[in-house]
Amino acid sequence: MPFRALGLGDLILKAIDDAGYTEPTPIQAAAIPEVLAGHDLIGIAQTGTGKTAAFTLPILAKLSGVVGDGTPRRPRVLILAPTRELVAQIDENIRAYAKYLPLRMALVYGGVSERPQIQAMRDGVDIVVACPGRLLDLIQQRHCDFSKLTHLVLDEADRMLDMGFIPQIRRVLKALPAKRQTLMFSATLSKEIEELTHEFQRSPKIVQIGRRANPAATVTQLVYEVQQHLKPALLAHLLGSSELNMVLVFTRTKHGADRVARKLEQTGVKTATLHSNRSQAQRLRALADFKSGAVRVLVATDIAARGIDVDGISHVVNFDFPMHSEDYVHRIGRTGRAQAIGDAISFITPDDRGPLHTLERFIGRGIVRKRAEGFDYHAPAPPRDEQPRDPRGPRPARGGFRSGGPPRQREERGRPRYR
Ligand code: AMP
Repeated sequence: MPFRALGLGDLILKAIDDAGYTEPTPIQAAAIPEVLAGHDLIGIAQTGTGKTAAFTLPILAKLSGVVGDGTPRRPRVLILAPTRELVAQIDENIRAYAKYLPLRMALVYGGVSERPQIQAMRDGVDIVVACPGRLLDLIQQRHCDFSKLTHLVLDEADRMLDMGFIPQIRRVLKALPAKRQTLMFSATLSKEIEELTHEFQRSPKIVQIGRRANPAATVTQLVYEVQQHLKPALLAHLLGSSELNMVLVFTRTKHGADRVARKLEQTGVKTATLHSNRSQAQRLRALADFKSGAVRVLVATDIAARGIDVDGISHVVNFDFPMHSEDYVHRIGRTGRAQAIGDAISFITPDDRGPLHTLERFIGRGIVRKRAEGFDYHAPAPPRDEQPRDPRGPRPARGGFRSGGPPRQREERGRPRYR
């Protein structure tokens, strides 16, 4: 189906054409007519499915059909999202789709000065894209007049729920007109999300696009069994291959991310970090450098990486195995986007075996185990006199026996490979 068949208006079609989209994604084909018809909507779709355009395009079409009444501009659309990165990304998308429309936008998020955000509100805007916390601050200081609001979007509602934003969102909603169109997007439809739809929406239509719970369709996945203290050395070793040219590395903690980045920099690999201890400017810079190729590796935590939309990521490395299977799916969904083939590599220590089995049940398939010689946790430590002289070099592999079991066939010999 061509975009033209959806009735979006010529100026929007021109912008879509400029963006190089040839036809709507499934979530767009399903959601756009419902939104244009004025229904509330629940969209069950993950980042990477084209969901931002699915809610933005029809809202822009509706806004562009409304002629101003001569009074100063007041926000007509509010989009709430859980992280600053996602806010910035939604903004980037809307600016592309609305490039031929005379609409003004404001971004509202914490960690930076309020003043320009307050000024933008005063100057008059049509669309506000915001994180709930800072927006609530501005509402409480009476800097926002949402009396003309017609559209509300809650993006990544499941993550906002997980992050504890719901009480703030409830208070934001008190400042909005009751008569409005409300669209809610979530990666999963849980009981809690259903309860929120009853609270925030009226007879919503549901659009559900096959969950990418099986990212295996485009992403090659494997795990390396590795000793905890050898993870940095294994990562540096894998990065010896030029195939890993744009690598997103996930760690469990912010300090862990900093540590990994420091170690990689020491081996000459250009690396940036993305986590919530970094300032907004540093985070945007890290993303920009990663996108442009100025840094080869971006080390991130789950929350900061939420919604990262970067084309061409060659590999995702789970330096620390994620605690929740959903996070694994989100992480590896960063690669293999737009049908590119990407690799997801996970490091697991003996402690991660339980979560790995849980994950395999969750995604409904087993994941290939690899052993990188010299790093793997089955190998006993070599006798002292056989330690390598170069302290940075990997230890020579020994054994390959599981305790009490027969010798295991090595899957790898010589230099570790990752495919
Ligand atoms: P999203 O799920 O909104 O994060 O979008 C994922 C990526 O798909 C973004 O890079 C969009 O620019 C891109 N995209 C959205 N809609 C289309 C489309 N109809 N055709 C091709 N790419 C698209």
